Amino acid sequence: MIMNYCNNCGSKIKFGEVPGESLPRYFCDQCHTIHYENPNMIVGCLPRWGDRVLLCKRAIEPRKDKWTLPAGFLENGENVEDGALRETLEEANADVDIVRLFSVYSLPHVGQVYLMFLADLRNLNFSTGLESSDVRLFTKNQIPWDQIAFTAIKFTLEKFFDSTSQTNGEAILGGYTKY
Ligand SMILES: [Zn+2]
Repeated sequence: MIMNYCNNCGSKIKFGEVPGESLPRYFCDQCHTIHYENPNMIVGCLPRWGDRVLLCKRAIEPRKDKWTLPAGFLENGENVEDGALRETLEEANADVDIVRLFSVYSLPHVGQVYLMFLADLRNLNFSTGLESSDVRLFTKNQIPWDQIAFTAIKFTLEKFFDSTSQTNGEAILGGYTKY
């Protein structure tokens, strides 16, 4: 993510104190642009069908062969729901209707925030996408709990199968990993 050259004027970028800023920043002292770096958003769905949820087996690194929910980086110009639907289509060829925001999970040490949406599968015509080697429905007891790729996804699945959270209409906040 660290740039060497200013995307505004092409000069070499510096890093350090900038007047008016509380944190050191990447900046260009030729055109005075501050190049902010902020966390990335990862958006995805928790697709459900009865008492089962759809998981994808990762075909790519990182965490190849581990299981995850369909999710990926939000693109510029995209709203979060559209991003979650796009990732669900790309990774699982699954058509879903978003029900609501389900969980928010922060990973401050790597600058990521997950937004996961509860979604209803429209049908069972899902299949592997480019980044998946398998796509399957799992009940709570069938889920390979020790083979889940990411902590934010494990958190989301655990909350879903906690009966209180499943019936509660509000998003689960406060999920957080600190290293
Ligand atoms: Zn510049």
